[in-house]
Amino acid sequence: MMKILIATGNEHKFKEIMDLLPRQTHSGEEIEYVNLKSIGGLKLPPETGRTLAENAEIKAVYAAKETGLPAISDDTGLEVEFLDGRPGVRTARYAGEYADADDNNRKLLDELEGLFLGKRAARFRTVACLATPEGKVRDFEGALDGFIGFGYRGNNGFGYDPIFIVAGTRKTLAEMTEKEKNAVSHRGKAFRQLAEHLETLSNIKTDGINIC
Ligand code: IMP
Repeated sequence: MMKILIATGNEHKFKEIMDLLPRQTHSGEEIEYVNLKSIGGLKLPPETGRTLAENAEIKAVYAAKETGLPAISDDTGLEVEFLDGRPGVRTARYAGEYADADDNNRKLLDELEGLFLGKRAARFRTVACLATPEGKVRDFEGALDGFIGFGYRGNNGFGYDPIFIVAGTRKTLAEMTEKEKNAVSHRGKAFRQLAEHLETLSNIKTDGINIC
């Protein structure tokens, strides 16, 4: 049995990520997942990286070093073509340090005011990072192409979901069920690759130092 830390204090995110990961490897070794709460709490360092990968690595490497467990972390950004890739690493804080999802969505809609759909192309990108206590890292990336809509549509999901129209569909992410979203999403794609990696490992029973 190997324990892996999913470096988040957010129960919803923990469950969503865990649902995408395997409970055992192909060779039958069991994997148990814990989160920051279940190990007694750990404050993660601020996301000061210049890229999504740097931010994911900062968190996973720190969490693995502090706890002695292999750790998984992720960072997601929304890149809007017309804005030269912004908000990117600043996606969570787009409308300011204490901005909520509504502030961020309104700011983005304002910035794209008057542009037709073809000028509103955007991409969600997630980097998931797996780190060992020795500081070895491995990154897995997933992306989802789409367009920023003209207003809010749908009640599911979170963050930018109500204004992100998925390419090739007429739906925003907030109009999809959780299952539909996971099947196409940036996070789903990144974590399915990480899942495949974990499944193919062998001899990870003890402390998991060879997982990267
Ligand atoms: P984080 O990487 O989970 O911290 O997310 C960074 C920012 O991207 C936050 O503002 C989230 O609300 C937003 N975000 C991350 N994933 C999604 C998603 O799947 N849909 C909509 N917004 C998201």
